[in-house]
Amino acid sequence: MSSPTMHGEEQAFVQEAFDTNWIAPLGPNVNAFEKEMADYTGCGHAAALSSGTAAIHMALRLLEVKQGDVVFVSDLTFSASCNPIVYENGTPVLIDAEPDTWDMSPQALKRAYEKYPNPKAVICVHLYGTPAKLDEIMEICQAHGTPLIEDAAESLGSTYRGKYTGTFGKYGIYSFNGNKIITTSGGGMFVSAEEEAAKKVTFLATQARDPARYYQHSQIGYNYRMSNVTAGIGRGQLMHLEEHKAKKKAIYEYYRKAFADIPAIQMNPMNADGDANNWLSCMTISADCGITPDMIMDTLDEKLNAETRPIWKPMHMQPVFANCDFWPHDKDGKSVGEDIFARGLCLPSDIKNTDEEMEQIVQTVKGLF
Ligand SMILES: *Cc1c(COP(=O)(O)O)cnc(C)c1O
Repeated sequence: MSSPTMHGEEQAFVQEAFDTNWIAPLGPNVNAFEKEMADYTGCGHAAALSSGTAAIHMALRLLEVKQGDVVFVSDLTFSASCNPIVYENGTPVLIDAEPDTWDMSPQALKRAYEKYPNPKAVICVHLYGTPAKLDEIMEICQAHGTPLIEDAAESLGSTYRGKYTGTFGKYGIYSFNGNKIITTSGGGMFVSAEEEAAKKVTFLATQARDPARYYQHSQIGYNYRMSNVTAGIGRGQLMHLEEHKAKKKAIYEYYRKAFADIPAIQMNPMNADGDANNWLSCMTISADCGITPDMIMDTLDEKLNAETRPIWKPMHMQPVFANCDFWPHDKDGKSVGEDIFARGLCLPSDIKNTDEEMEQIVQTVKGLF
C-alpha cells in the first residue's frame, strides 16, 4: 500500500556513519538531518527522535500536561495521536472529523470548549496528508489561549496557504515510520519556531542529563533520540521528498480521473487552501450502492494481491478510549468519522506502482460497479 522507496543516497550516509564509527543516538547525520528538515519546512528548530509518537509525547511534556488535564485531539486518526496524552495521565477529549477535509471539525472543537474551557493543548492531525482547516482551528485556539500541536506525521510536505503543515502550531511533529512518505525505518521529529523548545526536547530525550561531569538528573528523562545510522537514511530520503510527493499526487489523480464516471465513488477530499502530499489515496462508497469497502478490499487482495486498509477506526470507537468524551461534528450526535470509517478504504498508494498495476487496480474496482 505504501512501502519504503530507497534511492541510494541513504546508503551513502549510512556508510559514512559506519566509516566514522558514529553508531550512536547522536552524531553528524542527526545534526544535519535536523538542520535539513528545518531548512526544508521552515519550522525554525528541530529535534530528531526515535518516533513520531515520542515527538507528541515530548510536546505534551513541554506543556506540562498532568493528571486530569484535558487535551483536545482529532478523533479520526491513528492511536499514536492520542496515546501520549494518557502517558502523562491527561484526559483525551475526542473531536470529530468534518466532511470537507476529514480533519478536525472546527464547529465540534468550539462546542467542546463550552464544557472544557481550559484544555492544556489541541492536537490536530492532517489526515492522509490533507491539511486541516488551520485558519479556523488556529483562531479558536488563539481565542482561548490554547497551544496547538500539529500531528503532521502523515503530512510532511503538505502546505496550507503556502506554508508547510507542522509549522503552524506552537509545536509540530513528523513521523518517519516505514509506511510514511519518507522513512528512516522508524523515527520522528519534533519541530518548533522556539529554539528553547527544541533544545529542551533534545535534553529530555537524552535522559535529561544535567550539565555536569558526573551523571546528575534533576528531571525524569527519556531515551528517545534518533540514531545517527537511521538519520543517515532520513537525509537521503529528504532529498527525494518532492519527487515522492509528485508521484503520490499522480496516483491520487489517476484514481480520481478513473473513478470520475462512477457516482458511487468519492475520493478523499483535498483542502482548496492547501496542497496535500497525498500520502494515501482513499475513497468512500455511497451507502446504498450495494458495494462495501470489504468487498473492494477482498477483491483487490484475491485478484491482484494488492494491499488495502480500512480507514483509521475513530478513537471514540476504540475499546481503550471508550470512556473518553467525544464531540461529534453535528449537534444531533451523528459522527462524520464513523461514517467515513464505515464507507471508506485506503487504496494502494505505493509510488513504485507501475501504470499497468494502477490500471489493473482501477479496472478491478470498476468491475464491481
Ligand atoms: C504514524 C503516525 C503517528 C506515529 O508516528 P510513529 O513514528 O509511528 O510513532 C502519529 N500520528 C499519526 C496520525 C500517524 O499516522
